[in-house]
Amino acid sequence: MSTTGQIIRCKAAVAWEAGKPLVIEEVEVAPPQKHEVRIKILFTSLCHTDVYFWEAKGQTPLFPRIFGHEAGGIVESVGEGVTDLQPGDHVLPIFTGECGDCRHCQSEESNMCDLLRINTERGGMIHDGESRFSINGKPIYHFLGTSTFSEYTVVHSGQVAKINPDAPLDKVCIVSCGLSTGLGATLNVAKPKKGQSVAIFGLGAVGLGAAEGARIAGASRIIGVDFNSKRFDQAKEFGVTECVNPKDHDKPIQQVIAEMTDGGVDRSVECTGSVQAMIQAFECVHDGWGVAVLVGVPSKDDAFKTHPMNFLNERTLKGTFFGNYKPKTDIPGVVEKYMNKELELEKFITHTVPFSEINKAFDYMLKGESIRCIITMGA
Ligand code: NAD
Ligand code: ZN
Repeated sequence: MSTTGQIIRCKAAVAWEAGKPLVIEEVEVAPPQKHEVRIKILFTSLCHTDVYFWEAKGQTPLFPRIFGHEAGGIVESVGEGVTDLQPGDHVLPIFTGECGDCRHCQSEESNMCDLLRINTERGGMIHDGESRFSINGKPIYHFLGTSTFSEYTVVHSGQVAKINPDAPLDKVCIVSCGLSTGLGATLNVAKPKKGQSVAIFGLGAVGLGAAEGARIAGASRIIGVDFNSKRFDQAKEFGVTECVNPKDHDKPIQQVIAEMTDGGVDRSVECTGSVQAMIQAFECVHDGWGVAVLVGVPSKDDAFKTHPMNFLNERTLKGTFFGNYKPKTDIPGVVEKYMNKELELEKFITHTVPFSEINKAFDYMLKGESIRCIITMGA
């Protein structure tokens, strides 16, 4: 391509300060270095993690920065040593990577790559610590190694999943993060058998992804638990069969669920980030075989407290990162699930905005109106 090896000037949505609206700026994007690829982003979507680090409450703020980590695009050029990707490939950048060589990547059981595991503090590329984005020679920091709120971005090749070129990028871009986290938590970790019951704590995008996993697995009952009853109507469209609001009950919700299910659910998936919900999700599974999976990210000082007897009675507690999916190896398969109509993605997409109105996507999420808002680049 004519741009190979050249600096590309394009539009990016720059966060100059914490909590202030993003500003569309012209940025310079340097060519990809060793083990990096430069990607033309076509569609991106907004996830809570972007909003959380943009608000920068309780973290070391790093600005100016280009956020964004759920996206779909096409490889423009590749750097030295990249052999598995080439210009024209359709790809999803992923916030966590797979180097292929470390003990985690070599293990069938782990997706927590030593080299490319999620790093929220890093503002440059691993290769040289530098940013590939600049404005008038001043660096603009990366976010999660993806920075997809830019028409072009540079990503480590270990964080790039090559997908079926026939897959519509305006839909499958949401497979990059939240949807897969919830889906994989159910399908890869909780692993309900056909006909079993599954409780989902938290009916945000991640919880709805978990519910979609339960639907695909053929769960007989999918019980949604949330403090926010406004989420219940929407959840029903995702196959959630019953909804419970802990605020409507005087008894602990574990007991309510045990009464609804003759002793407890077969599986539960916690997608709230609340430690109380984590404990409840564990204690509401049936003794003898119940499995609970934690997905939500707790607060720094949280501690999980339950009576050890709950374990002795043969309940299992697990946790997962990114639904146990290995980004490069497994994510193309999630896209295939959509292509063969097993996985429904459309229902997750509630809003669409042109890139020029990206701040609206933040408004929709902050008001709790959206599950996913697709941002169309070049518009
Ligand atoms: P969200 O805020 O959209 O949804 C969370 C829902 O949980 C809300 O509807 C809220 O009302 C509900 N809730 C909160 N506390 C509750 C409680 N005690 N009982 C019942 N319901 C409760 O969030 P999301 O984007 O869907 O993300 C969910 C969680 O998953 C977050 O903690 C996020 O950080 C985490 N996450 C984890 C991974 C991972 O790899 N483990 C990846 C992405 C996101
Ligand atoms: Zn690795």
